[in-house]
Amino acid sequence: MKKHNFSAGPCILPEVVMKQAAKAVVELDGSGLSLIEISHRSKAFVAIMEKARALALELLGLEGKGYSALFLQGGASSQFLNVAYNLLEKRAGYVNTGTWSLKAIKEARLFGEVVEIASSQEDNFNYIPKGYTIPEDLDYLHLTSNNTIFGTQIKNFPETDIPLVCDMSSDIFSRQLDFSKFDLIYAGAQKNMGPAGTTLIVVKDAILGKVSRKIPSMLDYQTHIGKDSMFNTPPVFAVYTSMLTLQWLKDLGGIAAIEEINEKKAKLIYSEIDLNPVFSGFAKKEDRSFMNATFNITDDTLKEVFDEMCKEAGINGINGHRSVGGYRASMYNALPLESVGVLVDIMSELERKG
Ligand SMILES: *Cc1c(COP(=O)(O)O)cnc(C)c1O
Repeated sequence: MKKHNFSAGPCILPEVVMKQAAKAVVELDGSGLSLIEISHRSKAFVAIMEKARALALELLGLEGKGYSALFLQGGASSQFLNVAYNLLEKRAGYVNTGTWSLKAIKEARLFGEVVEIASSQEDNFNYIPKGYTIPEDLDYLHLTSNNTIFGTQIKNFPETDIPLVCDMSSDIFSRQLDFSKFDLIYAGAQKNMGPAGTTLIVVKDAILGKVSRKIPSMLDYQTHIGKDSMFNTPPVFAVYTSMLTLQWLKDLGGIAAIEEINEKKAKLIYSEIDLNPVFSGFAKKEDRSFMNATFNITDDTLKEVFDEMCKEAGINGINGHRSVGGYRASMYNALPLESVGVLVDIMSELERKG
């Protein structure tokens, strides 16, 4: 039986994508060769990379606006240092909204002064700080749009002339935003776009080349832009599968269409959390993530029963992160509304039992 996959990452991907990717590993489009054994310089793969990059910009509405899309290796975690390496001359501002922000801050401190502009650490990151003042002399301001572990999400981004850098690993392509407000967006593929192994970077070309330090070629965004994201051997399987997911999203109607479905999923689970006395939400209501719903069980004696019911219904991956506890239902783009329906039915059945 196919499970209802609420895993926080690596995560569920569309079934059609999985099937096509699996087929390409055996043989790519009748070529007599596997996707993972052809040269990355072959016509076939160059076309795949170009399509993946073009689809990313198209879906974000950034085509022809001076941005480049790159598919690099090293995960979003490498971008924590890469961003600072390429952009931090003197001071950068970071909003600390959780584990991933903290890791980004730690790396940036190797390169210059980091100002923690706001933080929700004192409440174990259950909300998004707002109304903070942004110093004017920053090289950039770094945000984390969706806090995968804590289940919070930035709804309104600050208005500022300072270059905006955003880690969108866990909510990219999930909701409509004016992406041209951002100067650099990065996202590990394995949350909402593809398998682990590649990270999408979308960067405004004009913000690069301004720091005085020397940047090693592999870490320099300009190297990769100059080589069309093919400076060295790209992670071909991860890029191909991401391309298929982006094509799937485009065929579905793009971000606007998926946003509607994501809103339905989020409403369904949060209304159950709010109405059902057996459960309580972790994140502040106004900052709730539409991707990762975090909640606790109010009566611990029901935990075993709930876990057993979930197991029987084929629900996978809803245990909360160790730093929060409780439960976390991750509802990325490819998770069908029906899967959330199955989980919500179990939650209300538990209430009747308890
Ligand atoms: C998962 C995650 C990361 C880390 O991604 P890796 O690809 O494992 O390095 C960074 N930021 C956010 C918001 C994440 O959800």
